[in-house]
Amino acid sequence: MGDEADLNKERLELVLEAAGLDLWENDLVSGQVTHKASKTFEELGFTQDEIVTGVQDIFGLFHPGDLDKVKQAVADHVAGITPQYRAEFRLRSKAGEWIWFANYGRIMDRSSATPGKRLIGVTFNIHDRKQKEDEIAQINQQLLEQNKLLQELNTALELLAANDSLTGLANRRTLMELGANECKRTERFDHPLSLLVVDIDLFKTVNDAWGHLAGDRVICAVAQACAARKRSGVDIVARFGGEEFVIVLPETDGVSALRVAESLRHDVAALSVPVNEQGASASVTVSIGVATMHKGSGIGFEELVNRADKALYRAKGTGRNAVYCADVQQGGAPAVHVLIEPDEDADADGVVTA
Ligand code: GH3
Ligand code: MG
Ligand code: MG
Repeated sequence: MGDEADLNKERLELVLEAAGLDLWENDLVSGQVTHKASKTFEELGFTQDEIVTGVQDIFGLFHPGDLDKVKQAVADHVAGITPQYRAEFRLRSKAGEWIWFANYGRIMDRSSATPGKRLIGVTFNIHDRKQKEDEIAQINQQLLEQNKLLQELNTALELLAANDSLTGLANRRTLMELGANECKRTERFDHPLSLLVVDIDLFKTVNDAWGHLAGDRVICAVAQACAARKRSGVDIVARFGGEEFVIVLPETDGVSALRVAESLRHDVAALSVPVNEQGASASVTVSIGVATMHKGSGIGFEELVNRADKALYRAKGTGRNAVYCADVQQGGAPAVHVLIEPDEDADADGVVTA
């Protein structure tokens, strides 16, 4: 029997050694360590003489951040809440480094007269695993932060790609995309579609007189005047080029578009834009070309812009600060031309037929 017991002990030692486990046993009643986890103490750099024998002394080696968790795990198991005692924690080595270990144990005498006396378990080193987990957690955290940054940059890029950076209006690319959709809607729903090309008159002279930055301010002021015309969720107001803007007016016929253009021309002429620190201000005028298409016009958005651009050219030809309208009728023919010059009164009196 004695031989068998020795053999069992040897078998157990072999298994513990092969699995890298260090067996220990604590008497929870007396608070004494009844079987020392000597391998763990060795790993921590302590000699056999330095191994502590009180449970409280062992607790002194635990990382303060882990101790409560370990005590709670023991208490939960002793109270019968958990089937085993399990905990992961850091122990301070003799050299002062924190090394990760794990415990797995069980009360062995639960049914005895003084239950909870013998807590038997094993300790094993999990430092490599924990370090890898830390590294992965760190990498994940970095990835999260980088993703957030990327999202912010993407949002900023999307805005930049869709809007003009100086005025904040839709840019030419957005205009062409949204405008093409409006053309399709015109064909589908049989609504007229009008478009204004607005160009600041003799803008070069503003730049020449006040400088490029002042010129930018004037561009922004005119952009605002255009944007003020916008019916939210309906119209498109875009910066088409340097000092040129396009306003798309869905479900708007030529006469209404002309009214909008004329009103905008007045608004711009009334602007007074501060251009320097001394309080000087600049005033400008705009010329506007208007084009309207209807269902069956057979023209696309680009052609509509071209027609409005040609009308603008005509308005410029009359001496600027003027509105010129080319109404595109069925079959794409420019049927009616309307010119409004500043000197004439702003109704459709100045009709000029093509
Ligand atoms: P017109 O009445 O015939 O339109 O005359 P204009 O001088 O307005 O026309 P032109 O097309 O000859 O000149 C436009 C000027 O606008 C030329 C360019 O230097 C200026 N410009 C274009 N983009 C910007 C900008 O972003 N800021 C400023 N300050 N000037 C610009
Ligand atoms: Mg101009
Ligand atoms: Mg121009």
